[in-house]
Amino acid sequence: MSTGQFSVDGETAIITGSSSGIGKSIAERFAEDGVDVVVCSREQENVDPVAETINESERPGRALAVECDVTDREAVEALVEATVGEFGGLDVLVNNAGASFMADFDDISPNGWKTILDINVTGTYHCTHAARESLKDGGGSVINMASVAGQDGSPLMSPYGAAKAAIINLTTSLAVEWADDDVRVNCIAPGYVATPGVESQMGVSADAIDREEVARRIGTVDEIADVTQFLASPASSYVVGETITVRGVPQIGEDLDV
Ligand code: NAD
Repeated sequence: MSTGQFSVDGETAIITGSSSGIGKSIAERFAEDGVDVVVCSREQENVDPVAETINESERPGRALAVECDVTDREAVEALVEATVGEFGGLDVLVNNAGASFMADFDDISPNGWKTILDINVTGTYHCTHAARESLKDGGGSVINMASVAGQDGSPLMSPYGAAKAAIINLTTSLAVEWADDDVRVNCIAPGYVATPGVESQMGVSADAIDREEVARRIGTVDEIADVTQFLASPASSYVVGETITVRGVPQIGEDLDV
């Protein structure tokens, strides 16, 4: 049996929040598979090195670095325009940009609440809404990055959990609305992933993670890129409106704070 259906070769993708962590890994993976990628984040100086590394490598996909704050609608419109201008269209949108902070619910200010909802939920809305015409032109794919925090609750990160729950719900609604346009909308809910931030917070090293070990509760950015590639590829053609949990061993009867 062929394995070609697992490839995204020849597509064009925007990966928001791709200056570091999971987004950077997805951009590198897509480019490795022959996808032209638009890497974006709030600061140009943070996305330039990611694009340069891709363009200077043997990866067949090309990279364009664009400064874009996903909470700024005009910047998001410009991001989509730059993508279509450079690569002629847009096939895959990965809404990966996200942020959080830890605090008791009692101490969360209206501004703190709004900031987290704006980046995670409204940012996802802006990017998806601004890209709608391009995505519907030829049948595209949207992959939203939620979290198990949006499924289980998230003590001490309640705005983040609420935001990620909203993203999971939006995924289902939009998947139905856009199915007739041949756009698939899906979502990934990771558990702990050893990004630089999580490495320093938890005192772990991504290098020490053994993919062959099943009994884990921390994954690598590559493992999230794998699932993202699957959801972007024709191999997942019958997966629509789903949230795929990627968290290792299920946590049963324990508090969660991812
Ligand atoms: P990260 O901090 O390394 O990456 C987040 C990216 O989003 C960065 O590039 C950052 O610059 C960007 N970003 C933040 N605010 C932005 C804005 N307003 N506009 C544009 N870009 C913005 O973190 P990560 O762990 O790689 O997280 C990526 C996604 O995965 C996030 O949505 C996060 O919630 C989710 N997630 C991560 C974990 C984990 O354990 N690392 C677990 C579950 C879900």
